[in-house]
Amino acid sequence: MSAGIDALKSALPEGAWTQDPDLIDPHLREWRDKYFGQTPIMLTPRSTDEVAAAVKICAEHKLPIMPQGGNTGLVGGNTPQGEVLISLKKMTAIRDINPTANAITVEAGATLQSVLDAADAADRKFPLTLSSQGSCTIGGVLSTNAGGNHVLKYGTTKELVFGVEAVLADGSIFNGLTSLRKDNTGYDLSRLFLGAEGTLGVITAATLKLFPKPKYVQRALIGLDSAAVAVSLLEPFRAGGRLAMFELMPSIGYRAVVDNFEAVRDPFSDKHPWYLLCDWEVDSEEDGLSIAENVIGHALENNTVKDAVIAMNETQAAELLSIREHMSAGQKFLGGSVKHDITVPIDKIPEFFIRADAAVQKVIPGCRPVGFGHFGDGNIHYNIAQPEGADKEQFLANWDALSQPVFDIVDTLGGSISAEHGIGIMKRDDLAQRASPVKMKLLRMIKTALDPDGIMNPRVMV
Ligand SMILES: Cc1cc2nc3c(=O)[nH]c(=O)nc-3n(C[C@H](O)[C@H](O)[C@H](O)COP(=O)(O)OP(=O)(O)OC[C@H]3O[C@@H](n4cnc5c(N)ncnc54)[C@H](O)[C@@H]3O)c2cc1C
Repeated sequence: MSAGIDALKSALPEGAWTQDPDLIDPHLREWRDKYFGQTPIMLTPRSTDEVAAAVKICAEHKLPIMPQGGNTGLVGGNTPQGEVLISLKKMTAIRDINPTANAITVEAGATLQSVLDAADAADRKFPLTLSSQGSCTIGGVLSTNAGGNHVLKYGTTKELVFGVEAVLADGSIFNGLTSLRKDNTGYDLSRLFLGAEGTLGVITAATLKLFPKPKYVQRALIGLDSAAVAVSLLEPFRAGGRLAMFELMPSIGYRAVVDNFEAVRDPFSDKHPWYLLCDWEVDSEEDGLSIAENVIGHALENNTVKDAVIAMNETQAAELLSIREHMSAGQKFLGGSVKHDITVPIDKIPEFFIRADAAVQKVIPGCRPVGFGHFGDGNIHYNIAQPEGADKEQFLANWDALSQPVFDIVDTLGGSISAEHGIGIMKRDDLAQRASPVKMKLLRMIKTALDPDGIMNPRVMV
């Protein structure tokens, strides 16, 4: 290994690598403090050519590589355990923006926020929003096929990409950057890298799809008695194709936010068992109010909905969104939490909650499920907080014992054990056990074809 590390140090310019523990340390721990890592060297290339040069040396010396973006991934695929860490954080350029083609080409280390801002400045929308958007990068969101709050209308990241530029496991550069909407010249190679979690190559840039900016976004927060009510609201709320967000929050998670963050305010005077946050993208403020008042008014009249707040201006809209944005952080106030990112057919969500809540109570009586998230996509972050007063570490030792019954229920409902966070290290064994043998064979064949020596993020996914 040391010959390979020396070769990297002499091939790359000063400033493009470091072995300083203080500089590397933040890259070895992740957001949930679940994984801690180590690396012999962190590379911070500034160009695709530098990435290619580094990967070529790693290939020659058979050094394993882990690419890293904003380090906000939630399945452990971003924490190295001895791999050479390639941080894309210095490759942040917006290479091109073409409003006519509705396309933007950006380097992999650009944060999602910087792309949202660049699109906005060009009077366009890039429709991917995550609470981590200030830190997560384009390389990361592509590699995890991130979802977020607008999948309901625009799809996951995979649907927002024209093509990618990537450094392959032998150091060669694949240039799939294009803004062509039609190109049927063989396999869709760019797509291979989407959701691949760095196991097939290092994404260095991408051309992304832009959309017309909605003229007005109408937001509302609604108090509900049950998740079943949310299912019944989906159809009337999405009539006309303008519904862009449909996010569910349970009382326990909602209270953890509004009771603990000074900057977040509960707009309701009463408490509700569930809350639903909705956006409609419309042509004018009048249209927004009319849609919200109409569908919510109808639900209030027939007693489906208990209470609602319709945002009357941008400040109120931002206040409502901030409750949802604090949902992950808020759960830290509940102590240790076992996390799941699952998806089931939307109409099966209420059944999922009933069965999963009962199953986890059998494992740890008194544990507190906090199922929230992208209800409109069938995607629930089914987190389980420790029983009040329990020992955090002891509780977290039950991670697998709590997860297996949850995943069993997901499987019987025809769902997926990873909706948007990926497989990483956390779910690698679960994938191997639960996916069909043919799917596993295909995944491994693709991996071996693109990375025959298994150097690209080798502990992740397959
Ligand atoms: C508060 C919070 C909220 C979140 N909300 C959401 C949400 O709503 N929806 C959602 O989908 N996710 C969400 N996430 C998860 C996370 O933000 C996403 O997975 C994001 O896509 C990760 O991007 P990143 O740049 O931080 O990637 P990293 O964490 O650095 O890496 C993630 C994976 O991608 C690989 N990778 C990174 N860059 C590259 C590259 N250039 N080439 C090849 N492989 C690469 C890594 O090796 C790793 O396997 C959230 C996370 C946090 C902390």
